[in-house]
Amino acid sequence: MTSSIPATGEVTGTVDFASAEVVGEVVAKASAAAKEWGQSSLTRRAQVLFAFRQLLQDNKERIAALITAEHGKVTSDALGEVTRGLEVVEFACGIPHLLKGGFSENVSTAVDTYSILQPLGVVGVISPFNFPAMVPMWFVPVAVACGNTVVIKPSEKDPSAVNAVAELWREAGLPDGVVNVVHGDKEAVDAILDDPRIAAVSFVGSTPIAKYVYERGTQAGKRVQALGGAKNHMLVLPDADLDLAADAAVNAGFGSAGERCMAISVLVAVDTIADELIAKITERMATLKTGDGAKGCDMGPIVTAAARDRIVGYIEHGVAAGATLVVDGRETEFHGGPNGFFVGPTLFDGVTPDMPIYTDEIFGPVLSVVRVRSYDEGLDLINANRYGNGTAIFTNDGGAARRFQNEVQVGMVGINVPIPVPMAFYSFGGWKDSLFGDSHAHGIEGVHFYTRTKAITQRWLDPSHGGVNLGFPQNS
Ligand code: NAD
Repeated sequence: MTSSIPATGEVTGTVDFASAEVVGEVVAKASAAAKEWGQSSLTRRAQVLFAFRQLLQDNKERIAALITAEHGKVTSDALGEVTRGLEVVEFACGIPHLLKGGFSENVSTAVDTYSILQPLGVVGVISPFNFPAMVPMWFVPVAVACGNTVVIKPSEKDPSAVNAVAELWREAGLPDGVVNVVHGDKEAVDAILDDPRIAAVSFVGSTPIAKYVYERGTQAGKRVQALGGAKNHMLVLPDADLDLAADAAVNAGFGSAGERCMAISVLVAVDTIADELIAKITERMATLKTGDGAKGCDMGPIVTAAARDRIVGYIEHGVAAGATLVVDGRETEFHGGPNGFFVGPTLFDGVTPDMPIYTDEIFGPVLSVVRVRSYDEGLDLINANRYGNGTAIFTNDGGAARRFQNEVQVGMVGINVPIPVPMAFYSFGGWKDSLFGDSHAHGIEGVHFYTRTKAITQRWLDPSHGGVNLGFPQNS
């Protein structure tokens, strides 16, 4: 497959896809390395992680430049995603503490029980195009710290960042075979899902593929966490600070050209403030500069020509369905190459829940305003949506915010925070069709996902406790 610079449309490289046979050879390598790495001391693992953290810090700009060239997001955003990945590495540096089991002395007379957390062996990671460095780092550092070896298949659309990061793992002292990259498409993904030597798979991508990966992987007996798509709502109540809410809607709606799983794509405005809020958002949108992400613009291009055409198709659908096109991103003036894949920030008002621009994940810079009469109507709308990745409420009423956090059926919630991505020591993941499986990424849930617990009960020989007794063991 060819790889293009989204800002200019220029083809800059090609990526070969691994066949199922090649994936099998890579899994064999990861499998051979698993025993030794799984037995490595916690101190050694922590040392590699600390060295890797420093190398990542030193190479941040270089990796960000690769992301901007292939994905198109602006430099500050690319740097931001590397930093968020680095935070997971810092979390994983604390692995000696995270892998502590429990110990209970004298659960019965002179009998102790304790638990240990052991690695799974080989794990697979399959990542999407939109965070080519950060999403792999949600998983790989935690999996490696837990003593596993990894086979990662990044998105074919922007494959270079993962290659660069894998090189840093090697420089940090990770033995050969612990982190392995394969490039490919469905054939490579299926080979990972079907290979009995792979114990667990972490997947991030669109909902239909996440569901497929979850079903096929679990049928093959694997542990699977598959994070899917999103339609994130931001509810603005009448008592909110409307300037703050307008800033947040613009930042979260159009940052990274809306190609974020935590982007706000639906603004739910209580009718009494909707006109004023839309006016403030429109004012701010007029100041945004769209163009080449490497050249100081606010918003970069869309990742591919096909993705751009799909977004433009949705804008046409919105108009046909009767929504009011307040700002038309098809008419934006772009500061980039004439063949770049651009769509400018787009705003629809009067969107209703039956329109495709509301029901579907557009994954582009298109913000839809749905007007509601009350908090309850807004909450019902959010809870009826099939997705449950992120959401936010903007209000100055602590009681309303607290009610929202309790009642909303969404995995990550912001209160006056538009993109509530949890820090690395919490876990990241949505509800409903935004996640298949029961473990979220990183944090304690990540450590649990990549380990198996064993409980051991011990007694050291004591003649006073001998004798035959066929009864079920009980504490005494
Ligand atoms: P995608 O589903 O097209 O691809 C994701 C991965 O699956 C890639 O590695 C791709 O090569 C592979 N793939 C594609 N088609 C496949 C198939 N038919 N069978 C098996 N594997 C296949 O997603 P994308 O376009 O790269 O990324 C954008 C999507 O990811 C959006 O839906 C976004 O919401 C979602 N996403 C979700 C999260 C989250 O945390 N929930 C985070 C980032 C992105």
